[in-house]
Amino acid sequence: PRAADMEALQHADVARLLPRPGAESDKYRRGVVGVAAGSGTYPGAAVLAVAGALRGGAGAVRYLGESESVREQVIRRFPETLLTQGPVRRAGRVQAWAVGSGLGDGSAARELVADVLTADLPVLVDADGLRLMDVSAVRERTAPTVLTPHAGEAAALLGRGREEVEAARLASVRELAELTGATVLLKGSTTLVADADRTKPVRVNATGTGWLATAGSGDVLSGAVGSLLAAGLDALDAASVGAYLHGLAARHAAPPLTAMDVAHALPHAWQSVT
Ligand code: AMP
Ligand code: MG
Repeated sequence: PRAADMEALQHADVARLLPRPGAESDKYRRGVVGVAAGSGTYPGAAVLAVAGALRGGAGAVRYLGESESVREQVIRRFPETLLTQGPVRRAGRVQAWAVGSGLGDGSAARELVADVLTADLPVLVDADGLRLMDVSAVRERTAPTVLTPHAGEAAALLGRGREEVEAARLASVRELAELTGATVLLKGSTTLVADADRTKPVRVNATGTGWLATAGSGDVLSGAVGSLLAAGLDALDAASVGAYLHGLAARHAAPPLTAMDVAHALPHAWQSVT
């Protein structure tokens, strides 16, 4: 690949892009991120995505879920969260959505993903959402979409094997952005972010550590990037700044780290950048 095909974010870029509340700020203007994640089978995904969202820089986090038990677990862990049920359009004042982590694969989960994709707002789709979404519905969206697959999820979307994606990560992330019309964040030991606009270089992030290879760390990332979208960053910036902070947070947490440790270390990552 030509050098211009890829670029790495620098500390100064991230510092410039991070949302910083001022005297004129209120929680709505700072951004409200909607999180539609988790299920009775995977309640922890909801809690972890909300944890990432709360530390992502938006002013408020709204959790949407039909399971009362999951809503209770979210609110017990994070009393700051606003709770909603019902259709996405009735979730008040949400400015961006993060959907997909731990939804399982039922028909209600599929409908939820489809409903979120109809919102005229930035939407991040992760994990089960990547399997449940209709690619043509993603292509038809006019608001920004961010997809956050690991190599296996990217391979399934491209209709090929995981090893093929691992062997050609740059080409794969570009191809998936082309196929879906979305901004694509391909996870791994380094993270690649390809914008929907293919004239922009792919952003490479290498702030992470192998300790991030732990259950739930991707759920935290989805919440954090969703929060940055709600705060007003564009899709490429939100995805790459989110990956940058998520990786730095892992370096601030004491190993062997858990996904929740990563969420709790996000403020240290912010501090080390600003
Ligand atoms: P997921 O696969 O959805 O659980 O997400 C895992 C997260 O951890 C992603 O942000 C990956 O980029 C990151 N990650 C996984 N393995 C490594 C590794 N060996 N080095 C650095 N980051 C990693
Ligand atoms: Mg995942």
